[in-house]
Amino acid sequence: METNNNPSFRDKPVNLDESGNRKWIRAQQPKGKWYNRRTIFAWFCVAFLVLAPIIKIHGNPLMLFDIANRKFSLFGNIVWAQDTFILALIMLVTVVFIVLFTVVFGRLFCGWACPQTIFLEMIFRRIEFLFEGNHRGSSSKQKEGFARTLTVIGKHASFVVVAILITNVFVMWFTGPEKLLQIITSPISENQLGFLFMFAISVFYYIVYAFLREQICTFFCPYGRLQGVLLDSKSISVIYDYKRGEPRGIKDGGDCINCGQCIAVCPTGIDIRNGTQLECINCTACIDECNTVMKKVKKPGNLIRFDSFHGIEKGIRSIANARTYAYSAVLFILIIVLGVTVSNRSSVDVSIERMPGTMCQMIDSVTVSNIYNVKIINKASSAKHITFKLVDIQGGVLQFTNDLSTLESNKAAESVLMIQLPKKMIKTRSTDLKIGVYENNELVTVNTINFIGPQN
Ligand code: SF4
Ligand code: SF4
Repeated sequence: METNNNPSFRDKPVNLDESGNRKWIRAQQPKGKWYNRRTIFAWFCVAFLVLAPIIKIHGNPLMLFDIANRKFSLFGNIVWAQDTFILALIMLVTVVFIVLFTVVFGRLFCGWACPQTIFLEMIFRRIEFLFEGNHRGSSSKQKEGFARTLTVIGKHASFVVVAILITNVFVMWFTGPEKLLQIITSPISENQLGFLFMFAISVFYYIVYAFLREQICTFFCPYGRLQGVLLDSKSISVIYDYKRGEPRGIKDGGDCINCGQCIAVCPTGIDIRNGTQLECINCTACIDECNTVMKKVKKPGNLIRFDSFHGIEKGIRSIANARTYAYSAVLFILIIVLGVTVSNRSSVDVSIERMPGTMCQMIDSVTVSNIYNVKIINKASSAKHITFKLVDIQGGVLQFTNDLSTLESNKAAESVLMIQLPKKMIKTRSTDLKIGVYENNELVTVNTINFIGPQN
């Protein structure tokens, strides 16, 4: 897919100089319809990130990864850590969707919806433009002495504030807004570990956006590396129309006047005219900038555009090929399996485990007891009235330390359970017991546990 006769651009990363030192990329601010669309979409994504744990659907957060209580709220639906098969299916559907999306649209996600790009390009880079000016003809470079120091301090102080805000949003996705408010309003001495964690995350974000920046996309991000195996000649991405553009130069006949503006606005510092590259995050800045240049030189726009290599070469844009059909079929099947699994999952999940370190106790000369830990989860959207009974044995007594008879929707409850049985019914050292869990006298599920009798 290269159009460059000298492929030496592949010899080293664009943000390193000959001796391997960092070359700072100071991209110019783009202007144009794609940048405006991207700005609107980015702010929609930021609003989603901030509001998703706050907005409630049927009393559940729109999105919440409550790891402490081992439950996840996905678009208002509660999935418990115990639903391992459902969680695995959700992850599989997500992976196949990402693969299919990348095969069809290349790295579009990176430039438009990735939080790294949104925060860097729409917040941190704009703060930088505010303090230092647009990097071509930048006013900050002309500042000297104290004025320059003030500019640098102002910029980095703003970076720190935004990094702390992002940390709070990040933590809110795992704690919910109420818990976050409680954490940030209580004294540090009451929550030293939480404070240290948030401090470390804030430092991490500050380093990422103040120093690492585009290196996250070009060196660290594994998704970018996947492009090499996922893209093909029909994948849509930001691409330079070399048929129209070459030979480049004002007098050489092609539409590209070799002005270098597409490189000046590129946040990863590459020259898209070299062809599709790992570093291209499909941000569309070069499309806008080249369109502005084309307008000035009175040539048709879209010399750089969203298209495929196949589209440039043959003039036909088509995303259909064997891979897109195959991935679509797999995704469709997985979504069906996920839907069926979710609709058939039990509304009550019960686990009964022997209390660690306990065997059997003699209550009196004729009664034996064992002690268990019980955990019950109501996964339904309404409260449940639960009773526990021994299924295949008469005369036993179940005693709970906590009342489990009424369970609120999407709540878990725990109790210690003591089972007492007449000694005469325990014929062997180890007996399997079945405990039925009933809702309104209807059997919901049966748990088999092991009851240990006394040594004869
Ligand atoms: S902005 Fe357009 S005309 Fe200028 S170098 Fe890039 S592709 Fe060529
Ligand atoms: S080449 Fe164009 S689309 Fe790709 S990262 Fe650079 S400016 Fe964005």
